[in-house]
Amino acid sequence: MKGIEMNKFCQGPKCHTYTTQDRKRGIKGDKYFQTRTVGKYGYGENHFCTMNCHNDWWAKHGTRAIDHFGRIHEPIRLVPENAWVKDYDYHYNDGNGSSYTHYFLNKLTDERISLTEAQYDDNNYTLERARAA
Ligand SMILES: [Zn+2]
Repeated sequence: MKGIEMNKFCQGPKCHTYTTQDRKRGIKGDKYFQTRTVGKYGYGENHFCTMNCHNDWWAKHGTRAIDHFGRIHEPIRLVPENAWVKDYDYHYNDGNGSSYTHYFLNKLTDERISLTEAQYDDNNYTLERARAA
């Protein structure tokens, strides 16, 4: 978040119209407001200085962006085949301190497949691998 990142300008189309002191530049008789840098906030995947600027961009470009990248014309369904997530339970002070149990959970059927903590943390440990084990 230093160097180049800190000098990245906010992509908000109205950023320069928000007349805050930190946007103010110039000398007496020749003052102006300018677009902020994204700075440490980095909203919207690090392209905007505030959620307000993010929303301004969306209001201006959102419809075209959706049409460009593909509009959803049919509802997307969560069915048993794509309803699996990794999840865990936290057990507070179950006799010898707290512990966790990890598992794949089917959010539709409530089916569970036990996992070790390492398997839970491993992004390459997929449902297919858990089923084959
Ligand atoms: Zn901004």
